[in-house]
Amino acid sequence: CEDPRIERISKAIRVIPDFPKPGIKFQDITTLLLDHKAFQDTIDIFVERFKDKNITVVAGVEARGFIFGPPIALALGAKFIPLRKPKKLPGEVIFEEYVLEYGSDRLEMHVGAVETGDRALVVDDLIATGGTLCAAINLLERAGAEVLECACIIELPELKGRARLAGKPLFILIEAD
Ligand code: AMP
Repeated sequence: CEDPRIERISKAIRVIPDFPKPGIKFQDITTLLLDHKAFQDTIDIFVERFKDKNITVVAGVEARGFIFGPPIALALGAKFIPLRKPKKLPGEVIFEEYVLEYGSDRLEMHVGAVETGDRALVVDDLIATGGTLCAAINLLERAGAEVLECACIIELPELKGRARLAGKPLFILIEAD
């Protein structure tokens, strides 16, 4: 049966229709951050899931993966790597192009952030088409990490993003449409 904490987390996420474009139902996690109990529960559920998996890297996708990734990394005793939008990271980077539900973009990662043999978890708030997480997996694996799993708060299952994750498991708390 479902974890009783999930209902409170789900209720704390606001859905805004037609943002940033008509037809998109935007899942707004900023309201989850206003409920510190639900925010803490979210982090705790991810930490419980990954605490015995010898994760050495938590990689967070800009921007909302930067909110949820670092507390998970600290609790797991892992390093945190920000995967950023173009031209934000000052050092040498590798990059992957990807297509979003609304637009296209690329993700960049600092060369040297990953060491060969690192065991990685990729964190974002939401998976839609899976393009973002696919780019994140490719970046980490090109740099020599093993990606064990991806974790998001919300999945939009209709968009079948899971199929793009190169067989990596995806852990989610909530399904939305
Ligand atoms: P995708 O690459 O298609 O899986 O899109 C996932 C990325 O886009 C994540 O970083 C999400 O934060 C963002 N995103 C896509 N669709 C939505 C949505 N309906 N509500 C909120 N964020 C979204």
